[in-house]
Amino acid sequence: MHIEHLRQRLRAAGAKPGHERRVLQAWARACTLDARRSRADDFLPLSVRAALPAFHDELERLARVLSEHPGEDGTRLLVALADGQTVESVLLPRGGVCVSTQVGCAVGCVFCMTGRDGLLRQLGSAEIVAQVVLARRRQALKKVVFMGMGEPAHNLDEVLAAIGFLGTSGGFGHKNLVFSTVGDRRVFERLPQGGVKPALALSLHTTRAELRETLLPRAPRIAPDELVELAERYARATGYPIQYQWTLLEGINDGDDEVDGIARLLAGKYAVMNLIPYNTVAELPYRRPPWERAAEMARSLHRRGVLAKLRRSAGQDVDGGCGQLRARAAAAGLQ
Ligand code: SF4
Repeated sequence: MHIEHLRQRLRAAGAKPGHERRVLQAWARACTLDARRSRADDFLPLSVRAALPAFHDELERLARVLSEHPGEDGTRLLVALADGQTVESVLLPRGGVCVSTQVGCAVGCVFCMTGRDGLLRQLGSAEIVAQVVLARRRQALKKVVFMGMGEPAHNLDEVLAAIGFLGTSGGFGHKNLVFSTVGDRRVFERLPQGGVKPALALSLHTTRAELRETLLPRAPRIAPDELVELAERYARATGYPIQYQWTLLEGINDGDDEVDGIARLLAGKYAVMNLIPYNTVAELPYRRPPWERAAEMARSLHRRGVLAKLRRSAGQDVDGGCGQLRARAAAAGLQ
C-alpha cells in the first residue's frame, strides 16, 4: 500500500489537494484516534466526510500492534500488516522510533536474524508511515530511523516516499529522519536530489573489504574507502554528519587493526562512529566483546581524532536482535 494510493482514494471521493493534505496530515500526526469526530473533518466536503469511515478503517488495517516487549533501551513492537506478515518496530528512548522497510532482507548479514530468510516482500510507503503512526500513539516522536528489518536501499522508492511525506505532512525535521544503509550507489545518487534530505547512517562494520564481503554477503561491492568518500560528500552537502554503525563482534572486528583502519578512514571526516556491542542470540555463533574492550576502542578513536560513541545494543541498530520477535512468532505458528 502506497501513500499515492491513499491520495487517489481521497481524490476519487472528491477531495481537493488541500483536503487530501489535511486528512493525511492528521493521520501522520496520529490525530485520527477517533477520526469520525476529528475537527479536521469539519472542513471537508460532505462526499469526503462520507468516505472517511471506510478510509480510516483501511488505514487501521495497514498495521496493528500484535505484541509489545519492553526492554532496557526501548520497547519492541511486533506489528502485523494487512496480509498477516509481521515486522518489528522499536520505540526508542528520547522520542525516537525505528521502523522496518521490508519483510525480511536480501543482504544476508551473517550476524542478523532478519537476513536468514532472505527478502519476503517489500513494504509500501503507507505501511512504513503506519508504523510511525502506531509509535506516535504510544509516545511523542521527534525522530524516525529507518533501521529496522530490511535494507532501505532495496526499497528505495517507497522509503523515499515515506521520508518525503514524514518530512512535510508528518512534521519531522529532515535531519531527524535517518536513512540507514549498508551502502548502495543508488542511495548516494537519489538522496541528494530529494526535497527532504534525511540524515544518513552507514553500516560499515569493518574497514577490510574482504571481511565486509563475508559479513555482508549480498551488500553492493563498494570498498570501505570509497563508501566513506561517497558518504562524506553527502555529509558536506547536507550539513549533517554521517552516523557510521559498527556492530562489534568478538574476535572478528574488534582488533587494533580495525581501530587503525577507522582512524585512517574517518579522521577529519564529518562523522560519528557508533560502536554497538553485538547482542548475542542463541541461534547465531557470534559473541559480544567485553564492554571494557569496546570502551578502549572508543577511547583510542577519540585520541586519534574520531568522534566515537559506545552504544548499548538497543533496538536502534542491526544487532542480531532485529528479527527475533518475528522468528519467535513464526516458530510458535503465530503467522
Ligand atoms: Fe538486512 Fe540490516 Fe539484517 Fe543486514 S543487518 S541482513 S541489512 S536487516
